[in-house]
Amino acid sequence: MRKPIIAGNWKMYKTLAEAEDFVAKLKEKQVDHNKVETVICAPALFLNQLVQASKGTFISIGAQTMHEEKEGAFTGEISGHQLQDLGVNYVVIGHSERRQYFNETDDAVNKKVQAAFDYQLTPIICVGETLEQREQNETENIVSNQVMAALEGVSEENVKNSIIAYEPIWAIGTGKTATADDANDVCQAIRETILDGFGEEVASSVRIQYGGSVNPGNIEELLSKEHIDGALVGGASLQVESFVKLLEVA
Ligand code: PGA
Repeated sequence: MRKPIIAGNWKMYKTLAEAEDFVAKLKEKQVDHNKVETVICAPALFLNQLVQASKGTFISIGAQTMHEEKEGAFTGEISGHQLQDLGVNYVVIGHSERRQYFNETDDAVNKKVQAAFDYQLTPIICVGETLEQREQNETENIVSNQVMAALEGVSEENVKNSIIAYEPIWAIGTGKTATADDANDVCQAIRETILDGFGEEVASSVRIQYGGSVNPGNIEELLSKEHIDGALVGGASLQVESFVKLLEVA
């Protein structure tokens, strides 16, 4: 059985005080870590404080991006090596906002995924189609290509431990969610792509999240679907109350 994983993606929101307050409140909630994996992907600025604050709890901390090199003259960047050093466990790679605004290509995503494993970070690899691509019935093709490009040269063992987040771009931050059936169909297509590339055991173990306007009102139906193993959540992860509701359903 695949354990559901709910990851909050805070993007460029919250001050340090707000972030610490969120984690302090979340820690007090009764969340069974055997039933659901809880991750908060926070701005790099306060990863250190949040890792310290969540030590020994059910909460894991993730970054929102990383550079593929260990170190070097890359002003403004942070490396997997540095994230590992802080005790960060997850890293979002290839979010559509990074692909769109920061020119992150499939090739860069692949390098970052490989580097994440070099530093014992679990990558949450984001893929998804634009509205135009969906309307032209290209969704499964686009998404499968993104998955294979991201995982090129990655070992079976590491693919098994990767998290894939299917996030239709038109559903992110728009209040429009893919229907649970549509989301499940694409997640199934992703699993079949992984089956073709890496075999049955890997395909049945890898966890696939849905992301895009997930909220307490739609999470239950999404998670009831066979191929959806969790959610990557933006807006609804910013308040403790709504985030906890997602964890409770999972
Ligand atoms: P949203 O964002 O939940 O606000 O749509 C999801 C994401 O960007 O990961």
